[in-house]
Amino acid sequence: MVLGELGGRIARAIQQMSNATIVDENVLNECLREITRALLQADVRFELVRDMQTNIKNVVNLDRLAAGHNKRNIIQQAIFNELCKMLDTGTPSFTPKKGKTSVVMFVGLQGSGKTTTCTKYAHYYQKRGWKPALVCADTFRAGAFDQLKQNATKAKIPFYGSFVESDPVQIGVEGVARFKDENCDLIIVDTSGRHKQEAALFEEMRQVSEATNPDLAIFVMDGSIGQAAYDQAQAFKQSVAVGAVIVTKMDGHAKGGGALSAVAATKSPLIFIGTGEHVHEFEVFNVKPFVKRLLGMGGLSGFIDRIQDDVPMDQQAEHMQKQAEHMQKLLEGNFTLRIMYEQYQSILKMGPLGQVLSMLPGFSAELMPKDQEKESQANAELMPEGQEKESQAKVKRCMVMMDSMTNKGK
Ligand code: GDP
Repeated sequence: MVLGELGGRIARAIQQMSNATIVDENVLNECLREITRALLQADVRFELVRDMQTNIKNVVNLDRLAAGHNKRNIIQQAIFNELCKMLDTGTPSFTPKKGKTSVVMFVGLQGSGKTTTCTKYAHYYQKRGWKPALVCADTFRAGAFDQLKQNATKAKIPFYGSFVESDPVQIGVEGVARFKDENCDLIIVDTSGRHKQEAALFEEMRQVSEATNPDLAIFVMDGSIGQAAYDQAQAFKQSVAVGAVIVTKMDGHAKGGGALSAVAATKSPLIFIGTGEHVHEFEVFNVKPFVKRLLGMGGLSGFIDRIQDDVPMDQQAEHMQKQAEHMQKLLEGNFTLRIMYEQYQSILKMGPLGQVLSMLPGFSAELMPKDQEKESQANAELMPEGQEKESQAKVKRCMVMMDSMTNKGK
């Protein structure tokens, strides 16, 4: 079950409860049963789900709620609060400061998405005015340096590594020194992974950490392992001072919800999630906006983040100003085809339409028409892939038509 589907099921359970003529014990129990089923299928630990149910029942005491109380709102709020609690680590993480050198070391198992995530992380900060650099201290996996080099070149981020040097500690130390000299304010060190947790991996991590003295060690883990994330996060925490966690592959795996709640249970700050293979498929993790979006309550913060990612820093103010002018023209009834063309251009630049829509309030998973749901994967995606391509093609077709118009026509 992917996250959209999990959110859709919970949102529908809440909706059904809200639609009931009278909200009594039976209605509440049915709602909680459906939420429980959805969470367990997403591999959330049984104990967490059980506690959540008990807490909601304690808050929502239907017998004691006086007539006139809006029971539906109280239940909804309790469910929202409990989901937030389940994903909240309650511990803040170190955040790099612009203009002051920070060294951030990435650790994790091989295949978890560590190298890809290093570039995403660097790209995220680069777009916000930092001067990041990447150091490849992964000498274990053949091709690791090539991969980092390719990703870094594509994202225009300076990198350091070696095809011949086999000592990760030496590369780490040299790379950090080089980029400190070059006044980079965010130096990211990618370390080796292994197929499984083993002594050699932890020893190497410890040595690189001692030599480069990072301000933050980020543990990258694959979200598809579900609740097993708990043991993995604990094992890494015990071997290196993990200061933050990034969970990857949240874009299509059944157990993503289980992995997030398991990480939260280890009290490790979850700072980003990976939602695809591309550099911009990376989201800041903030509990409340995340749960709101999961339940289809929308939120603009992800959308604004995405604008920041796609519009260069020096053009952001101008971009926002333009958007405001367009909005004003729309309100005045002066919305022309030329403006529509510019809007289409911006939307296409921001990535897959389904993803962009999911960030807007009102375009939530559970709002997709019922007849588009497939039995086995209800609401799995906001916009099914075929439909997404079709919509994108339609937008492009309209743009071609507008291109062929005269200025007067527009
Ligand atoms: P490493 O061995 O931990 O450095 O892992 P890599 O960065 O090489 O990633 C392993 C595979 O996972 C690659 O095919 C990546 O493209 C893919 N990957 C990384 N992050 C994500 C993600 O968030 N979503 C998806 N779908 N794939 C990812």
